[in-house]
Amino acid sequence: MVVYWLYNITGEEFLLDLGDLIHRQTFDYTHAFLNTDLLSTTGSIHCVNLAQGIKAPLIYFQHHPEQKYLDATKKGFADIRKFNGMAHGLYGGDEALHGNDPTQGSELCSAVEMMFSLESILEITGDAGYADMLEKVAFNALPTQASDDFMTRQYFQQANQVMMTRHQRNFDVNHGGTDLCMGLLTGYPCCTSNMHQGWPKFVQNLWYATADKGIAALAYSASEANIDLPGGVRVAVKEETSYPFEETIRFTVNPTAKAVFPFHLRIPAWCKKGAIKVNGKRWLEPEGNQIVKLTREWEKGDIVELTLPMHIFKSTWAENSISVERGPLTYALKIGETSKLVKNDKDPVDYGASYTEIRPTTPWNYGLILTPDSKLEEQYKWEVVKPFSHYPWNPENAPSRIKTRARRIPSWGLYNEMAGPVPYSVTYQLETEDKEEDIVLIPYGCTNLRISQFPVIRKKQDF
Ligand SMILES: [Zn+2]
Repeated sequence: MVVYWLYNITGEEFLLDLGDLIHRQTFDYTHAFLNTDLLSTTGSIHCVNLAQGIKAPLIYFQHHPEQKYLDATKKGFADIRKFNGMAHGLYGGDEALHGNDPTQGSELCSAVEMMFSLESILEITGDAGYADMLEKVAFNALPTQASDDFMTRQYFQQANQVMMTRHQRNFDVNHGGTDLCMGLLTGYPCCTSNMHQGWPKFVQNLWYATADKGIAALAYSASEANIDLPGGVRVAVKEETSYPFEETIRFTVNPTAKAVFPFHLRIPAWCKKGAIKVNGKRWLEPEGNQIVKLTREWEKGDIVELTLPMHIFKSTWAENSISVERGPLTYALKIGETSKLVKNDKDPVDYGASYTEIRPTTPWNYGLILTPDSKLEEQYKWEVVKPFSHYPWNPENAPSRIKTRARRIPSWGLYNEMAGPVPYSVTYQLETEDKEEDIVLIPYGCTNLRISQFPVIRKKQDF
């Protein structure tokens, strides 16, 4: 990657030979994704190596633009989803790759390295699907693993996480049992040095200059950018939004002189139909899963308003468990919690002088009630609960919630200080409590404790 970066600056031919040599001498991800069972085999590869290496085929594609490199990356991501995927956008990898049980760990380094890989892939391919995946990790997996002040972080997270305590769990590697605790050095120090690349690199990849001499906004967040176009025009753009907590994104385009150029915008796959207005006039109503292009003469103060209507949908995971999603956000059970700062006299050099444990104070063993897609909006009532704050990523500040009804499953209890095996959905006559209860789901990224992959149960009258 760095060799091609330098080649693009200097044009030195020997760098292309060096790129080929490095490619030949390093692990062949293209072959592994296309022709081996690497991604369906537990323990086959280190989780962070995979997050870094998934971009290797497309980095090489820059010099050797062959279809197999595009195919390898697509198949790699599809197999990660199929065999190891979880509702937070990443995969089971608690050191080694570890399948899709929602209590397997996902490392903070995997989140930030996967984001950087997706950003690199997006820049090369311009494929909207990779931006959807990037936002999934950025707005779900990433924020849960750092404390609000960014002074402590969590080494592994679980999609179903009901106890963040010091305990040896069913991970490939346990680090004194500290992996789920919030701390400076819990788990292993890599995440402490790596965590800082997540948000800044995401911000760096919100905007691109394009090959067709225009500009592109491919992932969305409030931002400002100055982009130099060939021909000497500089475009200052301002993006105002509370996305992913709101559907509308407002861009102000300020070129230094009137100029004709394309402005590319991504319409995510989860969006059925977007709406684009330019200076208040309807311009386009594009379907989801594409990048649209507004080509016109731009002048100072032009306003583009992009609306991406969000709706409730569900995804299916291990044991037919489901996650409830809306736009780029996964929603997870809000669990009452109590936290305790633990002074670590036992092994402070390895795992830090202190760490925080979090335990649940309310039940979590709920099954969602089987609902056809056509009734999801009725059964899952989404609402705004508080104005968007500058730091929405904790349970208290969650800007939105979903209310629904669920029944508890008595046989689904704690196992080894984590949620026991998730009951298979939809099992005929699974024993549940008779009483339906109101439960609240909040955005995954705002939770500490959570269930995000729920078992699904039938209504009593369906038996
Ligand atoms: Zn790490």
